[in-house]
Amino acid sequence: MSPAPRSRVRRAVRWALLLAAVAAVGCCAQPAFLWVGAWVRDKPVTEAVPPGFADDASRMNRTAVAEVWPVPADPAAAEAQLRDLLRRAHEQKLHVSIAGARHSMGGHTIAADGVVVDMLPFKRLELDAGRNVLRAGAGARWSEVIPFLDAHGLSVAVMQSNNDFSVGGSLSVNCHGWQHDKPPIASTVESFRLMTADGTVHRCSRTENAELFRHALGGYGLFGVILDAELRVVPNERYTPASEVVATDRYVERLRVVATDAGMVQGRLCVVPGDDFLRKAVLTAWRRAPCGRAEIPVLNAAGFAGLRRQVFRAQIGSDAGKAVRWRAETAVAERLAGAFFSRNQLLNEGAEVYQERNADRTDILHEYFVPPDRLETFLAAAREVIPRHGADLMNVTVRTVSEDTDTALRYADRDLVALVMLFNQGRDPASDERDAAATRELVDAALAAGGRYYLPYRPHPTPAQFAAAYPGAAAFFACRQRHDPAGVFRNRFADKYAPR
Ligand SMILES: Cc1cc2nc3c(=O)[nH]c(=O)nc-3n(C[C@H](O)[C@H](O)[C@H](O)COP(=O)(O)OP(=O)(O)OC[C@H]3O[C@@H](n4cnc5c(N)ncnc54)[C@H](O)[C@@H]3O)c2cc1C
Repeated sequence: MSPAPRSRVRRAVRWALLLAAVAAVGCCAQPAFLWVGAWVRDKPVTEAVPPGFADDASRMNRTAVAEVWPVPADPAAAEAQLRDLLRRAHEQKLHVSIAGARHSMGGHTIAADGVVVDMLPFKRLELDAGRNVLRAGAGARWSEVIPFLDAHGLSVAVMQSNNDFSVGGSLSVNCHGWQHDKPPIASTVESFRLMTADGTVHRCSRTENAELFRHALGGYGLFGVILDAELRVVPNERYTPASEVVATDRYVERLRVVATDAGMVQGRLCVVPGDDFLRKAVLTAWRRAPCGRAEIPVLNAAGFAGLRRQVFRAQIGSDAGKAVRWRAETAVAERLAGAFFSRNQLLNEGAEVYQERNADRTDILHEYFVPPDRLETFLAAAREVIPRHGADLMNVTVRTVSEDTDTALRYADRDLVALVMLFNQGRDPASDERDAAATRELVDAALAAGGRYYLPYRPHPTPAQFAAAYPGAAAFFACRQRHDPAGVFRNRFADKYAPR
């Protein structure tokens, strides 16, 4: 007997649902499998550095120190006690290093057996609204600065792509970001107060103590303690993204077209091993979408942190994970067209969303700068060097940085394209040595392309490579010798690269 019509319909619906479920599982099984795997492998450890030691974001630099000394938050107490500390350092022949958020990766905040000055408590913020100038204590982090400025309809003019860093640390490496075609942060500095090794506080600007101004910005804490700074700020704005996938050999040409009226621009290169490896990019320009202040989207906590973390971490050691992220990223880029974002929202992203937290592995950054017309030359070398060393490249962002006319130890000696590379690796000495070998070859490739490399990361480049990339280095260290003849301010970066 044939079934009644209603039960035939029910059976058909059941089959349709089953087929849909099978199709959905087919499409999503691989990503879901990878993300669950990433979640299972993600075993965060709270790794307290033991008393008597200091380390940085690399978790590769644990070093015995005499003490970590937090600066008092109150400006008068901070200055008096810092002066006492410097006097004691002179008397006891102690070295002093300066630490902000400690996201540099080469012991730049650490002097062996020395005193680490922890600047984070020194974070007072004041706005001079008439001049659009922010006065920020050097210990303030961007995650504190951005909400403060947001409440006044303002935004940071130049900063990194994450909000974790301190103002003092950002000035001392002369950071740059993805604010389109802007010079590094020094260009936004009106003035700062610097306590030099003899305990004197100097106001430094382009016209007052100009030599200290040029050397302490990008000076890696070797000229004194930056106490606070006056930074020019800009209006918070509304942006709308326009994205496209481009071949890297057309990146610069397309950038010039899509960046019209863009406040921020960033490219992400494909890191999937194979034909597209460092040959394709998602190029996104965040164009200005002018509106009244009330229509600028409110500043929120960044969403989907858990999912974004798993998508990112699923790439570790996995070509499939990298392919899934690339597909997800290109799809999301298309979907964002027409949406609105505030400038402050884009800037207010923490690095911890993606950070490696397992005990045996770490994330290491590299950054290379090349003239725009040599981008492809550098990438051709990178495509060969990176796989040969078995390096696990997780992310590459591409930005532009305009010429820096303010600092002595400058990387942007002309308009350049910056490539920020994030690698995941073991924390063991063999992995570090593999990273060192790859770094030195990539530095050679950047130099051969007329470029530079960035200094806050692992100190793997040789002194000869450093001298080639920074021809002003000898004069920089000679100036340091004049301002701090006893070499009170010291760190592992200077230990490696300062002349003896
Ligand atoms: C995930 C990640 C993303 C990054 N993205 C970018 C980016 O987009 N663009 C970019 O340019 N860089 C980027 N960086 C590098 C970053 O800008 C630097 O490492 C920066 O120094 C971090 O600030 P910090 O507060 O952690 O500085 P720290 O690491 O604490 O210090 C860095 C240097 O500044 C000195 N210093 C700190 N405070 C003072 C002070 N008050 N006075 C004098 N000297 C001081 C220290 O002695 C040290 O030499 C990134 C780093 C990481 C880990």
